[in-house]
Amino acid sequence: MPQDKNTTPRAPLLTVEQALGYIRDSLHPVQGYEQLALRDALGRVLAADVHSPIDVPPHANSAMDGYALRAADLSAGGETSLRLVGTAFAGHPFDGSVGAGQCVRIMTGANVPAGADTVVMQEDVRREGDVVQVGAGHRKGANVRLPGEDISTGATVLARGRQLTPADLGLLASLGIAEVRVVRRLRVAFFSTGDELCSLGEIPRKGQIYDSNRYTLHGMLSRLGVEIIDMGVVRDRREDIAAAFRQGAAVADVLMTSGGVSVGDADYVKETLDVLGKVNFWKIAMKPGKPLAFGLLDGTAFFGLPGNPVSSMATFYQIVQPALRRLTGQQEQAPLRLRVPCVSSLKKSAGRVDFQRGILEYDSGGQLTVRSTGPQGSHVLSSMSRANCFIILPAEWGNVEAGTTVEVEPFAGLI
Ligand code: AMP
Ligand code: MG
Repeated sequence: MPQDKNTTPRAPLLTVEQALGYIRDSLHPVQGYEQLALRDALGRVLAADVHSPIDVPPHANSAMDGYALRAADLSAGGETSLRLVGTAFAGHPFDGSVGAGQCVRIMTGANVPAGADTVVMQEDVRREGDVVQVGAGHRKGANVRLPGEDISTGATVLARGRQLTPADLGLLASLGIAEVRVVRRLRVAFFSTGDELCSLGEIPRKGQIYDSNRYTLHGMLSRLGVEIIDMGVVRDRREDIAAAFRQGAAVADVLMTSGGVSVGDADYVKETLDVLGKVNFWKIAMKPGKPLAFGLLDGTAFFGLPGNPVSSMATFYQIVQPALRRLTGQQEQAPLRLRVPCVSSLKKSAGRVDFQRGILEYDSGGQLTVRSTGPQGSHVLSSMSRANCFIILPAEWGNVEAGTTVEVEPFAGLI
């Protein structure tokens, strides 16, 4: 792992990519799966490849309304007269077979009857009673969808690691698959640290503030469909912190804390964590969200998020969320990012990547633009609430003039 010359080995300055790479290499997908009915599997991650048990379409069927016939009957030059022997509707096949000199009226989606190999569009024939006149120039197999043309029996339809979407559920249903094997839910425990924090329902004493991070984390985790273990607020006392770490590590795949990892607090938490496992206290070259602790406590992945409300959210989205995906065996997924003109000027100092809060909207001319939510302090949670995207500014950039094209990450893409 790269280290900055000017920092201690305990506090290397890492880029977001370096931190993500280190985390990816340290974590492995969890073991365990469950078998779920299709309707219960939305958002869950496939634990095994799904193969098609059938051909799709299951039978040769017509792509057009027309006449099913044998291509060999058609004369190469002029017209051919065929005798109409029946009709095939979608869902109501023609039971007989098409013999030499015969044809069957056929509708789109209907099974192509035995004996026939070609469908000629109704616009291309002349019909008088039971006699159908067909011209030359029709290719054998025309307008016939073959069995297995879309998906053939045994083909991999969805790969392991796939997070199931509504379309996937429909696709699986179309194959007659009623149940899927998915990775078990991750168990994620978290607590807030700080003597200044009180939970909802308590009356804040002088100098206290309400804990907001636990509610933010609860929301972000709920959307990810993990099993949530909310351990409450833990006071800045050695024994309490140590007990909470032990308890969290014993029950969860992932333990997250917020607060207590910035300079000053860090040594204190560090002492406890040194006994329990290998934890790195990083300074990440991102703003907000510079301090981050990451490590393994007896097999449980530990993330010590910064205490400031916006920092903890930005760190969760940019770093923890990809780690949770890795733990369920999901493929890495590049976040959706767009380049749009920024109509505000933005304050920035060079050195760290900024995840500023922005509002992505169409201007009166129909052009997609972004503007700042205003003050960008890492404690200004209302900026996060008003925003609908991150404005991502590269580390080396300084102040940004209005009109500059910037990269944004819409929250809609963050789940
Ligand atoms: P810390 O990282 O513990 O030094 O906290 C940094 C700042 O974030 C301080 O102003 C804390 O009061 C605030 N903070 C820490 N945890 C929380 C929390 N759970 N909810 C709201 N603010 C917090
Ligand atoms: Mg604190």
